[in-house]
Amino acid sequence: MARFQAPRGTRDLIPGEIERWQWVEAMARDVFDRYCYDEIRTPMFEDYELFARSSGEASEVVQKEMYRFTDQGDRDLALRPEGTAGVCRAYLEHGLASRGRIHRLWYMGPMFRYGRPQKGRYRQFWQIGAEIIGTPAPRADAEIIALFVDLFEAWGFEDLVVMVNSVGSPESRQAYAERLKAWLAPVATLLSPESQERLTRNPLRVLDSKHPTDLAILAGKQGGLDPSTMPHMLDELDAESREHFEAVRSELESIEINSEIDHGLVRGLDYYTRTAFEVHDRSLGAQSALGGGGRYDRLIEELGGPATPGVGFSIGVDRVLLAMESRGDTLVKKAGTIFVASTEGTRPAAPAIVRALRAVYAVDHDLEARTLSAQMKSADKVEARVVMILGEDEWKQGQVVLRDMKTGSQTTANLDEMVESIDRILGSDREVESEEE
Ligand code: AMP
Repeated sequence: MARFQAPRGTRDLIPGEIERWQWVEAMARDVFDRYCYDEIRTPMFEDYELFARSSGEASEVVQKEMYRFTDQGDRDLALRPEGTAGVCRAYLEHGLASRGRIHRLWYMGPMFRYGRPQKGRYRQFWQIGAEIIGTPAPRADAEIIALFVDLFEAWGFEDLVVMVNSVGSPESRQAYAERLKAWLAPVATLLSPESQERLTRNPLRVLDSKHPTDLAILAGKQGGLDPSTMPHMLDELDAESREHFEAVRSELESIEINSEIDHGLVRGLDYYTRTAFEVHDRSLGAQSALGGGGRYDRLIEELGGPATPGVGFSIGVDRVLLAMESRGDTLVKKAGTIFVASTEGTRPAAPAIVRALRAVYAVDHDLEARTLSAQMKSADKVEARVVMILGEDEWKQGQVVLRDMKTGSQTTANLDEMVESIDRILGSDREVESEEE
């Protein structure tokens, strides 16, 4: 029989790789705590209609990338392609508005899109995201961008520049779409088939294209367009959106966040209004967006709720990890594992010692009756910081041997003082660390 494989576009995260993920997630939780955001977990599938409504029936995600299915009760469902729609649905369903005007929420979890798999693009991928629901204040946009940047900083990304733009109101965007369409008209037939379709349905999306031909045309290398004449969304903004954008930019400046205007940044989803932002990492090639977000003042209304402004972002965790790897970041090691090694006569006593130590430390031991030298090899393999050897002679005296695997030195410790003795060895690491700082 053919062996099973993970479905195309999905991956297993196995030991050796999962540690990086755990580290990225733990750092994120820590940053969210310091920003006073609350976690929210929503289902991985929802009514198909929720996504059709929030992403726009005509959007690419809905048209081509949705994992849509009918369950045994004949419900029309879909695996979530992104997190915001579910969060807004939950916000309305639980009447969160009655519990307070402004909600700051974060989430992490898998998302599903039926795209063509390639480096940095999977059919099941992970996102970490955050939302501020309930205020149109520019300070909220600036805070969400600061949180976005601080997550990347916590993951070791330095000197990030956030690309920002404003997509205004749906009305001003409509006016811009017409100007863009007119600008692209001379090259319309040269564009990729997808972009020709976008040109009629949602011309702004042409600017999002990753197709090499479209990129060449937009860069003026083919078709004779002059990129410097491309119309800018910022020139079409309504007065309020312009004022809002200027306020966001000056807030960002006051908290020393580097941002640059990217006129081509329009975002793919229909519910976005005003602020849009994104960060890229060129080392990732075609799929270079690490994350992005923006304001979605029309979404909650679109879902049947009262007009409620919101702003948020999502970050692609898979890509964050790829970027970290391409930078050559080394894995943060788990702090000091203790390995308990026993001999013929002390083997029966080992499990109780291991269990007691596990209340305090990460402890590993041998499950089979292997020789001491085989156990020492295992201790090396798991990079144990300390090996506790239950030698028969010492055991009879109520003592154990502690081997510091960094220095190779051994000491004997009384059983009733083993935690203090292990702490002394682990404590020497902390002293070295603080000297290094
Ligand atoms: P979006 O919701 O399309 O703005 O996506 C937000 C982030 O999720 C992107 O910037 C990517 O980092 C990540 N992302 C989106 N689609 C995929 C995918 N198919 N595979 C991996 N990461 C993705």
